[in-house]
Amino acid sequence: IAAAARRPIRELPDELISQIAAGEVVERPASVVRELLDNALDAGARQITVRLSAGGVRLISVEDDGLGLPREELPLALRRHATSKIASLLELETVGTMGFRGEALAAINAIAELSVQSRFEGADSAFALDGRTGELRPVARATGTTVEVRELFFATPARRKFLKTDATELAHCIEAVRRHALARPEVGFSVWHDGRLVEQWRAAAERDQRLADALGEDFVKHSVAVDRQAGPVRVTGRAGIPDAARSRADQQFFYVNGRFVRDKVLAHAVRSAYEDVLHGQRQPVYALYLEIDPARVDVNVHPTKIEVRFRDGREVHQAVRHAIEDALAAPRAGEAAAAAA
Ligand code: ADP
Ligand code: MG
Repeated sequence: IAAAARRPIRELPDELISQIAAGEVVERPASVVRELLDNALDAGARQITVRLSAGGVRLISVEDDGLGLPREELPLALRRHATSKIASLLELETVGTMGFRGEALAAINAIAELSVQSRFEGADSAFALDGRTGELRPVARATGTTVEVRELFFATPARRKFLKTDATELAHCIEAVRRHALARPEVGFSVWHDGRLVEQWRAAAERDQRLADALGEDFVKHSVAVDRQAGPVRVTGRAGIPDAARSRADQQFFYVNGRFVRDKVLAHAVRSAYEDVLHGQRQPVYALYLEIDPARVDVNVHPTKIEVRFRDGREVHQAVRHAIEDALAAPRAGEAAAAAA
């Protein structure tokens, strides 16, 4: 590039910054669903209703009965890097909430029509904020929050072109809800699409109940309970018996401190645990939950927080591998359960 053709360095306008940042966080409607569910859970919701239209491209609405937001904070919620969840680097290192980047709502607002309705706990009125105009008006609703996202990617047609059919986008959205539902059995979830109830998982007292509801009775029948503490790492959940393995890796759920993650260390640990009992390309089914001191895992690795980094990968690998091996070796637990059914 010739010096004459070079343009001076300029700070990008806010809106463009948000649109660029949004590209990292929002790939498709399911990404929005995931972010809004994180927020609802962080707000202490016990019941979450997701309403979608046209695979989520026309409309994604997530209604919760959580704590809500005070009126004066509604506009702040849409600002970039504005969050109620951390206030310092120290808090980031021990963060216990799903969110902490303060970016999701700002990102979504930059690439869709966003509105937020909320009633703060103890407040005597509720307010709605229009993300585009910034207009605040009183509305009637119970304590909690509803975020509505319409016309996703209307401003970024390039991204819109990458979307698949409504049915495929819907399937991804449902999968996003399922992932959250498996982490939080005490919360009820329902999903509506174009006015039709497509999934409903009632609040459950036991995790196994939620696993049965959201993955099917067979998942529980054909799996063994995992529960092992190794030093600072605890691994619980269920691991499928070898016979329950599938050709597709579509029932593999791993959570770290309640967050769904994809991680090479964990995936490899699971693979090694099944090494002797599973052959070829067969994919084990599992829902595993790792609890670890938040200071020993970095969740600030990826904008979508689907990746994590462990301070001691070896320690985690061994804990996971041994937890599964022990469970699979326990006297025919899986078959006994299956036979009893
Ligand atoms: P983050 O979750 O990382 O803080 P977000 O952009 O997702 O960033 O949300 C910004 C802020 O808006 C949150 O910190 C929270 O205070 C508030 N907020 C968002 N969604 C909800 C909700 N469903 N209920 C209550 N407060 C919410
Ligand atoms: Mg968030």
